[in-house]
Amino acid sequence: MKSKHFGTLAIHGGQEPDPSTGAVMPPIYQTSTYAQSAPGKHKGYEYSRTRNPTRSALEASLASIENGSHAMGFASGLAAIDACMKLLSPGDEVISTNDLYGGAYRQFVNVYMKYGIKFHFLSMSQLDVIESKINKKTKMIWIESPTNPMLNIIDIERVSKIAKIAKALLVVDNTFATPYLQQPINLGADIVVHSGTKYLGGHSDIVLGAIIVNDSELAERLDYIRNATGGICGPMDSFLAIRGIKTLHLRMDRHCFNANIIAQFLESHPAVGRVIYPGLKTHPGHEIAKKQMRDFGGMVSFSVKSDRAKDASKVVSSMKIFTLAESLGGVESLSGHPASMTHASIPKKQREENGITEGLIRLSVGIEDVRDLKKDIKAALSLLL
Ligand SMILES: *Cc1c(COP(=O)(O)O)cnc(C)c1O
Repeated sequence: MKSKHFGTLAIHGGQEPDPSTGAVMPPIYQTSTYAQSAPGKHKGYEYSRTRNPTRSALEASLASIENGSHAMGFASGLAAIDACMKLLSPGDEVISTNDLYGGAYRQFVNVYMKYGIKFHFLSMSQLDVIESKINKKTKMIWIESPTNPMLNIIDIERVSKIAKIAKALLVVDNTFATPYLQQPINLGADIVVHSGTKYLGGHSDIVLGAIIVNDSELAERLDYIRNATGGICGPMDSFLAIRGIKTLHLRMDRHCFNANIIAQFLESHPAVGRVIYPGLKTHPGHEIAKKQMRDFGGMVSFSVKSDRAKDASKVVSSMKIFTLAESLGGVESLSGHPASMTHASIPKKQREENGITEGLIRLSVGIEDVRDLKKDIKAALSLLL
């Protein structure tokens, strides 16, 4: 299957008709345990925390679309991130970005710092700042690209070279890009993590996470951690994620198409300040995005001209098609106000330093008809004129 194109892998990668019935879709194996014919003699499944056939089918699909050798399904993106953190020991250091997903930041700082793990949060637009923080204790470099919500682009291939020299694991949270737009393993990443809650699931109906690696020893360590700590996804959610992945390429094409039109529209609007979209030539990471991504994604951030929370709030509250909600990556368009929602757990001073100002709005542009989306934004912005 490795030689096939993405759209074929999304549908068939790692998938076989169910051996017992020929069912084309993997059944939802809603079972905790499996009969053994003699003690320790079973068909590869003994207890569903360890392995479940529906989850295995999802994992085969995930490995295939991220071009990895192994994948693991988790209860949430944060459970997947948590399993990665458990690779570390007290005294180890992690270098990460300063505009990390808020929940990952909260886990690192409020949970793992007290176990003696040290984190450096850097602006990674200048890669030499990473090198300046590397020392013998650096065990992991943790990046997102595009970042959330500032949509900064990090050159994954260049960071992977720095990580290799430092003998540190490079982890890429590929939630925003998805494997259709960007494949971090091909760019040198050791571990790819996902919030499958977002584009992979794609329909805002599950919370799920994933890890994909291309190394059997690393896979074994992570699988051991998962079985020992139990953060698995259930069979029903695994099934829905498989179903979501089958249309990932189609959905992403439309997300990107719509987002590009919305970004250009916002750029021309008098009530708008900054527009941040990697597909715009004005975006500082545009060239790198062009190099490492197939297209520029479905997320657009912008600020209202006044940059005040009151005006941003007026816009997000009055849009009708864009629903004001946490999360992203579903077929429906969502809006968010990072300073008071997704990124409220980051201290205000640090938030503002990273560009997450009070007037910033984040759009997850859905796959509706873009003419209606444009009209919806236009009506809301007209309240500020
Ligand atoms: C949502 C998200 C997560 C966390 O995933 P959950 O499934 O909500 O636990 C991690 N990283 C990014 C980039 C996200 O957007």
